[in-house]
Amino acid sequence: MSEAKPMFDKVALVGVGLIGSSIAHAMRRAKMGGHIAGYARHADTLKQAHAVGFADSLHAEISDCVRDADLVVLATPVGAFAEVAKAMAPYRKKGAIVSDVGSVKTAVLRDVGPHILEGVHFIPAHPIAGTEQSGPEAGFAELFDGRWCILTPEPDADPQAVEKLKQFWTLLGSQIAVMDARHHDLVLAITSHVPHLIAYNIVGTADDLSAVTQSEVIKYSAGGFRDFTRIAASGPTMWRDVFLNNKDAVLEVLGRFSEDLSALQRAIRWGDGDALFNLFTRTRAIRRSIIDAGQDSAAPNFGRNPEHKT
Ligand code: NAP
Repeated sequence: MSEAKPMFDKVALVGVGLIGSSIAHAMRRAKMGGHIAGYARHADTLKQAHAVGFADSLHAEISDCVRDADLVVLATPVGAFAEVAKAMAPYRKKGAIVSDVGSVKTAVLRDVGPHILEGVHFIPAHPIAGTEQSGPEAGFAELFDGRWCILTPEPDADPQAVEKLKQFWTLLGSQIAVMDARHHDLVLAITSHVPHLIAYNIVGTADDLSAVTQSEVIKYSAGGFRDFTRIAASGPTMWRDVFLNNKDAVLEVLGRFSEDLSALQRAIRWGDGDALFNLFTRTRAIRRSIIDAGQDSAAPNFGRNPEHKT
């Protein structure tokens, strides 16, 4: 990317936590040029972002952050999107793109769509990349490398704006997919949202189990539980908002999950080893196909470094 002509003269990151700061790092790595403005509510968050130094300007007012921006990326928890979109409405630039990184997409159309002024292109997006860390110090340039970024433009979205956002995410390291928002929410309910709910639930159950002491839960955690605790350490605000805003798809998948769990319960009760063995064989093959698709590593501990930064 030529430093003389940035892809966007100004990019406003409304939210500078894990995802917002990682976008800034990845933009710098790609030498995209242009001004990177960041917004956060709290003075402490702004101070941390300033110390890391990924933004050219930092703001405590949304209106100051988005003023004259050519690309605005909403990167707060999705429950704040309606309020944030309303706060920035008078300041949007004609021809600018407003996007987001929210983990749910139909709620984003509902909450942000009404605040988009004429002449501004609204193209929702969701990078399928993350860690259990939060805040401005958690971000890193490689977060999106090889990961999918799903764009969910409405059918009447401007094709050039969609193309430009695709280019942006490609430069950040992502592979691009385009789909309908409702389909996105169903796919993510099964691949991400319900697995997180199961992790939160199993860790909560272990914590409540009075017959097993807290120290035993921690001491013997390598037996599968440890991997759940990593997922269950994910940001509480972000995940609360995901479940409140993807209710229908999550409840549908959860219904299926409960039926399948009952079938497993029955297999254990009746000693149906074949049913258990057949399922475990099928699921092992799914793990292999994820590795073959380059979406995880076959290395022990998933090849994750001690900071879990992959
Ligand atoms: P994060 O690290 O907790 O950062 C959130 C940012 O939003 C902070 O700058 C925070 O500033 C600000 N913020 C929080 N609540 C706000 C509110 N009510 N009004 C205005 N600003 C607020 O979160 P994140 O992990 O980067 O997630 C951000 C978005 O990315 C979410 O929509 C999430 O669904 C999506 N996402 C996350 C992941 C993941 O794995 N983490 C992956 C893909 C997509 P203050 O500290 O000042 O409040």
